[in-house]
Amino acid sequence: MTALLELRKVQARYGPVQALRGVNIDVPEGTVVAVLGANGAGKTTTLRAVSGTVKRDGEITFAGKPLRSGPEAVAKAGIAHVPEGRGTFTDLSVTENLRLGAYTRRDRSVKADIERMATYFPWILDRGDQRAGTLSGGEQQMLALARALMGRPRLLMLDEPSLGLAPLIVREIFRIVRELNEKEGLTVLVVEQDARIALDSAATAYVLEVGTVALSGTSAELKGDEAVRRSYLGY
Ligand code: ATP
Repeated sequence: MTALLELRKVQARYGPVQALRGVNIDVPEGTVVAVLGANGAGKTTTLRAVSGTVKRDGEITFAGKPLRSGPEAVAKAGIAHVPEGRGTFTDLSVTENLRLGAYTRRDRSVKADIERMATYFPWILDRGDQRAGTLSGGEQQMLALARALMGRPRLLMLDEPSLGLAPLIVREIFRIVRELNEKEGLTVLVVEQDARIALDSAATAYVLEVGTVALSGTSAELKGDEAVRRSYLGY
């Protein structure tokens, strides 16, 4: 069976820097897939190659069709990208950020969807008018996630959701991601430096090293792999 998202021999470069050197990744529908790796391995670039925000070569198919490049085409295809650093509109309110997340949709159930988001992030109901820039780091990450979900994506791409957050908040964010996957069948591709939390949440994972997939397997296989344990799990 073909996966919802397939990357084949994907390459990407920033001027002279070849960031991806032929990456193959499968994201089956309804699963959580993690991309792990050290600083500079190409994790962020992998997501940027999918969303077409970096020049890429190779093949990317989504739902069985070649994926057109560029943020607009990718959003229309049903892919939401929460970039590193979150990308919330800090001068806008929580509610305004959520409404913007629904911009690709034609239907008018935005209010119902904000209520649906509140089942995962109850605090957004009381904070609708608060300026996003004044939220805590964890709340901003959750808002970025909620905003992405307002577009009702088929695939959610999350870049390093743990960045700069306390371990308790990181666990809460991953718990919500798992709940979305289990309850709503949301497919997730998550890039993460914290291998431990990522492997606890993902079904399968890919380890990138200098722009190529060095290892891949189920989370259980990778947790049992000596090299992964030593390099990424620290035990
Ligand atoms: P990190 O965990 O540190 O974010 P990463 O695995 O996400 O790392 P990438 O950000 O994808 O790695 O970077 C891959 C390579 O591309 C690195 O060598 C990096 O220095 C380079 N790179 C990334 N962005 C740019 C850019 N805008 N211009 C030039 N080189 C870049």
